[in-house]
Amino acid sequence: MFFDKFFSFLGKDLAMDLGTANTLLYTPSEGIVLNEPSVVAIETRTGNLVAVGKEAKEFLGRTPERIRAIRPMKDGVIADFEVTKEMIAYFIRKVVTGFRLAKPRINICVPSGITQVEKRAVLESAHQAGARHVRLVEEPMAAAIGAGLPIEEPVGNMVVDIGGGTTEVAVISLSAIAYSESVRVAGDELNEAIQRYVQEEFKLLIGENMAEQIKLRLGSACPLPEPLTMEVAGKNMVAGTPATVEITDSHIREAIKDPVATIVQAVRTALEKTPPELVTDIASRGLLLAGGGSLLRGLDQLVAQETELHVMLDDDPLTTVVRGTGKTLEHARHYRQVFIN
Ligand code: ADP
Ligand code: MG
Repeated sequence: MFFDKFFSFLGKDLAMDLGTANTLLYTPSEGIVLNEPSVVAIETRTGNLVAVGKEAKEFLGRTPERIRAIRPMKDGVIADFEVTKEMIAYFIRKVVTGFRLAKPRINICVPSGITQVEKRAVLESAHQAGARHVRLVEEPMAAAIGAGLPIEEPVGNMVVDIGGGTTEVAVISLSAIAYSESVRVAGDELNEAIQRYVQEEFKLLIGENMAEQIKLRLGSACPLPEPLTMEVAGKNMVAGTPATVEITDSHIREAIKDPVATIVQAVRTALEKTPPELVTDIASRGLLLAGGGSLLRGLDQLVAQETELHVMLDDDPLTTVVRGTGKTLEHARHYRQVFIN
């Protein structure tokens, strides 16, 4: 028993999905070993870490002046290098105590629009945390592998990954990305639209986390068979006092219709820019939706309507990318062409 544990961390290779909303870690022997929000709380004056992950997410909108809760990857680019590095190192150390001794390999999935400077920062932080070999994979590629699409074949595979900060649309063929488009409209933007709508329609101020709760409970892209309602607590804008209002799914559909339309438009734009042969493949095979944002009720139906394509939803869209990155670790030779460093 003890030896099992000992040897498993000695040889512990890791796959990481460094998402704008959530970071996940996976090991070939154990599967997903960490799944936490990509949020860091730091002390404003010293820059010291106060909390990371789930605990830090609770801080959003609740921090006193001496503490700041930061989402360093929020827009799909690294807003704060130091904080991102500390976050990466913290998560790695949380799951593998012997990491420095073991010198494992680590494959990290990054947004496809990442710059050279950002790549270097990610590589450096993984090395500093003790990794021996670090390979980077682009997010839509990892999503396609995670969902089991035949990426190495000479056919077009379309992947739409709707995360927190970005929606990435890509067409993959022969282990390469033939076309990709990243828009900074995804789950976060839906939360912000809900915040604005509740403020304008109900004169109620609510925080980011409450807006997300509303989205999860009531959010939809198409009318629902059964109406949904929810009591929402916030602060009355005029009186400044606590207040609650009842909100329905149709309110929320109205609130999020613009960002939802932007996401659908990104898919249409990608199709327009993709060469005809690949579009024909996509027309016969369909497109894959992944990422937490794809869980919005009826979004698959709306994308299907608007593109006239068959839409597949991954079974567990919040983990598709990390499972795909895990496969690139387990079958590194087979996937050698997909790494971008
Ligand atoms: P990233 O890869 O950018 O970290 P994720 O794929 O983890 O993003 O998705 C996070 C986003 O998915 C968040 O905006 C979250 O609110 C949203 N999300 C998660 N579950 C649901 C759901 N059931 N309905 C709608 N949105 C969801
Ligand atoms: Mg993601």
